[in-house]
Amino acid sequence: MSATILVVEDEPGIQEVLKFNLGQHGHDVRIAPDAEEAMNQLRGSLPDLILLDWMLPGLPGIDLARRIRADNRLKDIPIIMLTARSEERDKIQGLDTGADDYITKPFSPRELMARIKAVLRRRAPQMTEDAVEIQGLRLDPLSHRVFGNQQALDLGPTEFRLLHFLMTHTERVYSRSQLLDQVWGDHVFVEERTVDVHIRRLRSALEPTAHDRLIQTVRGSGYRFSATPA
Ligand code: CA
Repeated sequence: MSATILVVEDEPGIQEVLKFNLGQHGHDVRIAPDAEEAMNQLRGSLPDLILLDWMLPGLPGIDLARRIRADNRLKDIPIIMLTARSEERDKIQGLDTGADDYITKPFSPRELMARIKAVLRRRAPQMTEDAVEIQGLRLDPLSHRVFGNQQALDLGPTEFRLLHFLMTHTERVYSRSQLLDQVWGDHVFVEERTVDVHIRRLRSALEPTAHDRLIQTVRGSGYRFSATPA
């Protein structure tokens, strides 16, 4: 699993440690030394996760977390708070900050990696390498293969990512622009009808085992992956 992680931390020593350890695990690391720079970076492409220090110069991490949660475009990004002392940790527990998890400094890189993995698994299952299986349709991110009733199906890379996202976010309607953000990446300028093209390709790839019926068109809204097709 490789994710883009925004580290909001002002201490150069910890920035370095995080950059090194996250990089070792294949993550792409961006650094912001304060809340203002973090907000600047968040105006561009979105990270998969934010590691947010509580004690920052200027706006405290906890207030930045609240701002992120109040912003429609940013609110779904998982946040792990870094805190220096256990009292801060207690405070975070007692406050409704919107953080998904928190970790107390000094932390072991191993513990941090485990927390990151757990948060991504919970909040962004399409980022993990866990296989998903629904109604006999099985997608395996590790081998990058898809099977319908054990029969190998042939999918292009975009169709694979699209299916992975849909299979990990079932029973919800996604608009074309939401799918573009989630599957193609935020700030990628492609036309919305591109989504229709790839949905069509995905459906025809799933046709041999009739799993195309799991992808529903919701008129005027978008698409839904449903384990209980109408
Ligand atoms: Ca700090």
